[in-house]
Amino acid sequence: MEGLNFIDGQWRAGEVPFETWNPSDIDEKVGTYSRASASDVEEAMAAARRAQPGWRAFNMQARADLLRKAGDLLIARAKEIGTLLSREEGKTLPEGIGETIRAGQCFHYYAGLVVAAKGEWFDSMRDGHNVLVTREPVGVVAAITPWNFPIALPAWKVAAALAYGNTVVLKPASYVPGCAVMLARILEEAGLPAGVFNLVMGSGSTAGDIMIDAADALSFTGGTETGRQVLLRAAQTMTKCQLELGGKNALVVLDDADMDLAVAIASNGAWIQTGQRCTGTERFVVQAGVYDQFVERMADAANAYRIGHALDADTQIGPVVNGRQFNENLQFVRDAQGEGAELVAGGGEVECRTRGYYMAPTLLAGTSNKMTCNRHESFGPIAAVIKVDDVEEAIAVANDCDFALSAGIATTSLKHAEQFRRASNAGMTMVNAPTAGLEYHVPLGGRSPSGYGSRETGTAAGEFFTEIKTSYINHGVI
Ligand code: NDP
Repeated sequence: MEGLNFIDGQWRAGEVPFETWNPSDIDEKVGTYSRASASDVEEAMAAARRAQPGWRAFNMQARADLLRKAGDLLIARAKEIGTLLSREEGKTLPEGIGETIRAGQCFHYYAGLVVAAKGEWFDSMRDGHNVLVTREPVGVVAAITPWNFPIALPAWKVAAALAYGNTVVLKPASYVPGCAVMLARILEEAGLPAGVFNLVMGSGSTAGDIMIDAADALSFTGGTETGRQVLLRAAQTMTKCQLELGGKNALVVLDDADMDLAVAIASNGAWIQTGQRCTGTERFVVQAGVYDQFVERMADAANAYRIGHALDADTQIGPVVNGRQFNENLQFVRDAQGEGAELVAGGGEVECRTRGYYMAPTLLAGTSNKMTCNRHESFGPIAAVIKVDDVEEAIAVANDCDFALSAGIATTSLKHAEQFRRASNAGMTMVNAPTAGLEYHVPLGGRSPSGYGSRETGTAAGEFFTEIKTSYINHGVI
């Protein structure tokens, strides 16, 4: 895979090439890309600015058709893009293909919303007047994305931004730019006018500030600390911000839970996609009556997973994304043991047919919610179990967290499920379902510090990607 920056409808080399490597086979190079220089990023922002009036005025049916075509192309090339995704990020092939199809579906969804744009008409308090409330594009959008959803995440930001009449400059994570290059090619092929979508690759710390300063709005997904930095930067220019950040999501398991279901949703939430999901479960808050059974069954579930090369047909869990994250995960487990956690499954490296960053699904038991392992996001296949006495304590522990993204409960009691749903301070709650696994037609996001600003996806995206205009009209007709 070779990819350049896409600026004002042109494929352009930046200042220096960089490479990506396969986490399933660390000696295999996946792609060669080109890091945009500061002036490339400035030109991308300027191109988006020039293109914005034309795109805003672009015929709405033509805009919808174009987004639909982009969705069609993503789905038609799901195997090719999914394979690239799996090689670059390490998700299993079905996960890579599934994510690409989901990206295509996001484009289809937002294609439909183009023609659903509406305003409101009000009577006025003044005779002979009326008031119109309409929504307009916010303008030029900077989109900055992390490595863990290399195609779906850029897609849901870009599709929504374009649907609402904005132009975009996308900067994907440096570890996984390949899917963003594929997206740019597809948007070009679909017929997007020059400058409406631009892609710049390279370091966030160089490109980020330039993008934030020149944009009307920033849609950012990434780590909470990076989010804090971009928010501080955006404050200087008062750039509108939408931040989707980290999580430390809890799944409560009550004594009355269906244990087969509880173990299935708990292991899915913690370990699928190598635990590299912002909404993944990292804390199991388990009532005393089922604690021992839960720990034993979860350890069995962890040990049963087949870890391996992302492209092997029988692999259920692929590698960790890169060496830095891999070492951080292993250190996280050692630190947890150091503070008294009991390692009941995984915790270390797994040998596979190729040299990769393979880590066993890991379960820590006997932890308290005060321990560092239950306070800091680990972002790997690692979860810890905390014992509680009753539903009230379970809710309190689940809420006692520096993040507020997603939280779930496993219970057969409608009363406890509703009690939990109401009391949870997370942005998304799940009843008898994994804390991860989101749908594109409803709002996605957490409360601060897991999220900041309007939510993404669904029609909620319209709140971020548009501005309200209130118009008072004196037409003189009583
Ligand atoms: P990072 O915060 O390290 O990076 C995210 C993006 O920001 C990358 O494109 C990165 O560029 C860029 N960046 C880095 N520094 C700056 C800066 N100073 N200014 C502007 N941009 C910058 O996150 P990761 O890629 O490591 O992703 C993992 C994190 O993302 C986890 O914390 C996870 O929870 C969170 N996440 C949240 C989701 C949500 O919806 N709430 C969904 C998915 C992930 P570069 O690659 O060059 O470093």
